[in-house]
Amino acid sequence: VNNTLADHTPPPTDEVTRRRMRATRSKNSRVELALRSELHRRGRRFYLHQALFENKRYKVDIVFPRKKVAVYVDGCFWHSCPQHGSAPKSHGAWWSAKLARNRARDAFANQALSEAGWAVVRVWEHEDVLEAADRVEAVLAART
Ligand SMILES: [Zn+2]
Repeated sequence: VNNTLADHTPPPTDEVTRRRMRATRSKNSRVELALRSELHRRGRRFYLHQALFENKRYKVDIVFPRKKVAVYVDGCFWHSCPQHGSAPKSHGAWWSAKLARNRARDAFANQALSEAGWAVVRVWEHEDVLEAADRVEAVLAART
């Protein structure tokens, strides 16, 4: 998951932002783990955190190499979920730019992967895990 702040030194975060970031981070990894174990339970085998581009920042969370299906589990905060994503009020300009860069990176990854013949599935951390697994299965089933 792309929850790195490595681009620039982040501004000092207020307590609300800190809580949001932390909640998102732990929730996100929990959702990814849950999705992975559900897919595994269904007999699916896959690779984790593969760099499919030269740029290591575009690592894919769950990779099905034979079917060429790439699954990202996106945190609501870091990837600007339409329901839960919004820039923190404090240091708003910095956060807006940061989150915009994340969105641009996601869009670039989607395009580069599909140009290379991959199907991309993006799962929000707020999604129901069983439904997300169904969605991944449907994409896998459609790929022969
Ligand atoms: Zn969300």
